[in-house]
Amino acid sequence: MLQPRTVARPATDYLTACTHPQRKHAGASTRFQRPSVRTATARPSYVFPAAEFRPYYLTLIFLFGLFPLTPTLARELDIEKLKERRADLLEMHRRDPVAREALAHEIAKIDTYLGDVALRAHQPGEAASHFRSALVYDEAHETARVGLIVSLLQTEQLRDALSEAFSGVAQHPDSADLLTLEGEVLYRLNRLDETVPAWRQALALRPDPALQERLEQVERELNHTESYRTSEAPHFTLQYDGERLDPNLEEAIVDTLEEGYDEFVRTLDHIPDATVTVILYTRQEFRAITDASSNVKGLFDGKVRLPMGGLTYLNRAARATVRHELAHAFLHFKTRGRAPRWLHEGIAQWLEPRSSGSREASLAREARRRGLDAPVPFTYPNALSQVEYLIDYYGTHELLDLLEHLRDGLSVNAALRDTYRFDVAGLGSEWARWLDLRHPEGGR
Ligand SMILES: [Zn+2]
Repeated sequence: MLQPRTVARPATDYLTACTHPQRKHAGASTRFQRPSVRTATARPSYVFPAAEFRPYYLTLIFLFGLFPLTPTLARELDIEKLKERRADLLEMHRRDPVAREALAHEIAKIDTYLGDVALRAHQPGEAASHFRSALVYDEAHETARVGLIVSLLQTEQLRDALSEAFSGVAQHPDSADLLTLEGEVLYRLNRLDETVPAWRQALALRPDPALQERLEQVERELNHTESYRTSEAPHFTLQYDGERLDPNLEEAIVDTLEEGYDEFVRTLDHIPDATVTVILYTRQEFRAITDASSNVKGLFDGKVRLPMGGLTYLNRAARATVRHELAHAFLHFKTRGRAPRWLHEGIAQWLEPRSSGSREASLAREARRRGLDAPVPFTYPNALSQVEYLIDYYGTHELLDLLEHLRDGLSVNAALRDTYRFDVAGLGSEWARWLDLRHPEGGR
C-alpha cells in the first residue's frame, strides 16, 4: 500500500531551524492481502525533501493478510468469537496428538490476526505478545515474525527486535520484508555497515524505490562517518570527527547533553530505552549528508545531528540548539513519534529554554488581525506561545497527559479533548483570547 508521495515544497518552506520526524499512520484497511513492509513514502510536508526522516519513521504499513479469510468473513468475525475459537482449538490441540500440528497452525493464524488488530490499534505491547504466541505454535510463521519485529521497533526494544530479525532471516532468507526490517533495526542501532547488505539483499528480491533511496542515504552517511570516532557517554553514543572538533568543545557538548538528559527525564517523565545517538558534523558535512539548507541549526531524525564544526566553544545559541534537538528526541521517544509539529517545536523551544517574552504583544496583534477564532498558522513563535499558554494556564502535568494520550494512539484532537476539553481549533481560540487579555488592543 503505497501512499502518494507529497510534493517537495519550495526551498523557502523548509528553511526552518530544525525539524523532527512524525509518523504517518496507515489507515486500517479492510482488504486482506499478503503482508508487506514498506518504507515511508508519505512525508509530512515540512521536512526536508531529500534526506529527512525516512530512516527513523520508516512507516511500516501492514496489510496483514495472512489470515485466510474473505473480506466479508473477516468483517463478521468479531474478536471475542475469535478468542473463543482459539480456546476451543487449544483444547483440541491438547487432546488430539494426531491433528496437533494442523491445530497449532490454526492457533498461530488467530494469534497473528489478533496481533495485527492490536498493532493497528496502536498497542504494540499487546501486539507483541500475540505475535510471540503465534511463534510458539508456528515457529516459521513469517508474518508473525514480521509483526513481532515491528511491534518491538515501535516500543524501541531494539535488541529484542534484532534477535527476532536474525531468527526470521535465518528461517526465511528470501523474505524481502524480514531483510528490510533487519536492516532497519541495524540502522537504528547505528550499525550502518551491516544495514547496507541487508537492504541490498532485500532490494535484489523486491525492487522498492523508497528503500533504494534510503540505502543510498545510508551509504552516503557511511562514507562520511567511516573516519569518525565513536565514544560512549552514559546516555549517548557520540560520533564525531576527532580531527576537527576541539576536545573542550566536545566535552562541553557531552556535558550539555547529559545535563539536558537528566533534566528532561524529570520534566517529561520519560526515560529513553536506549542510548541516544548524537552525530556531530562540520557544517559542510552536515549539509552534504542531510541536504539541509545552511541555516538549519540541527535536526533529529532518530539520531540527533548537530553541525558543530567551526565553533571554538559552546556558545549560548549552540547550547540551546543541543538542548532543542535533544528535546525532540525525548518527545519522539515519549510519544512514539506521534506528537504533531506545533507541539514538538513548542516544547522543544520551551526546553531550550526560550520564552516568548516581549514577542507576545505582537503575537496578540497578529491574532486579532487574523480573528481570534481563525485557524492558527504554524510558526515557531506561535508554537512556543501555544505551549506556554498550555503550561501557564493548565500546568505541566496536563501537558504530560497530552503527550501520553498521543503515545497511546489518540489523534491530536482526541488527545487535546481528553486533556483540555478542546480540540486544535479550540486551542487556537483559547490561546488567542489569552493573548488578547494579556496584551489588549491599544496596549503596548
Ligand atoms: Zn525543532
